[in-house]
Amino acid sequence: MLASGAMSDASRALPAPAPSPDPQEVRRVTEGLAAVRARIEAAARTAGRDPAGVRLLAVTKTVSPARLRAAHAAGVRQMGENKVQEARGKAEALADLGIHWVLIGHVQTNKARDAALVAHEVQSLDSLRLAQALDRRLQAAGRGLDVYVQVNTSGEDSKFGLPPEQVADFLAHLPAYQSLRVRGLMTLAARSQDTGRVRACFDLLRELRDAGRQAGTVGDGLLSMGMSGDLEEAVMAGSTCVRVGQAIFGARPAPSA
Ligand SMILES: *Cc1c(COP(=O)(O)O)cnc(C)c1O
Repeated sequence: MLASGAMSDASRALPAPAPSPDPQEVRRVTEGLAAVRARIEAAARTAGRDPAGVRLLAVTKTVSPARLRAAHAAGVRQMGENKVQEARGKAEALADLGIHWVLIGHVQTNKARDAALVAHEVQSLDSLRLAQALDRRLQAAGRGLDVYVQVNTSGEDSKFGLPPEQVADFLAHLPAYQSLRVRGLMTLAARSQDTGRVRACFDLLRELRDAGRQAGTVGDGLLSMGMSGDLEEAVMAGSTCVRVGQAIFGARPAPSA
């Protein structure tokens, strides 16, 4: 009995203590979050919606693990990344925090293994090949995964996602991949100062969701849409998840070409 007590002490060896976050950085993130929440609330009230129906996903791409410790201290529990390798590195660096990791960028099929390992949720599902590759890994691990189907509502070549006319058929094929739990649809709006064009992208995603509901293929029918620059339009169009980076963490460095 004594021996087993000693064993369990040894097996409880503590990991190296994590560095405590910079208080100034915690305050900056807290202020950024409060400002974004106020914007969500104002837009929801304008639309006659309950702001509690809009989830705020912090987009943490390019933000260092040290700053993300500050974000966690400020209350951030879910983090969105657009690259599998970056998500993986951060998930390892922040393993002690129990973050809910969300992939929001295109996942190449050959990264499906890492994606299935690191992500709790993939909002950028855009091909049946990826669905199949994820499902295979997840089945082997005995796990499920929340997914959103990404739709290219703007028609811009630079954006990933299914063309709108392929969405119904795509959704109809997803039940074959039993480890994937379909939560809804995701989009990025046109990059435009013209709020009419932006709004049209969000309205289109909602219409595709409504069609999917009629067909019973769109799972929970959630809508991930809206970012720092256009979250008001998205909330007014029915968004249930805004993905916000720069309005919380400040401007990102320009991507190196
Ligand atoms: C970067 C990114 C966002 C957040 O953009 P911000 O302008 O930082 O708010 C949202 N969604 C996707 C898919 C992204 O890649």
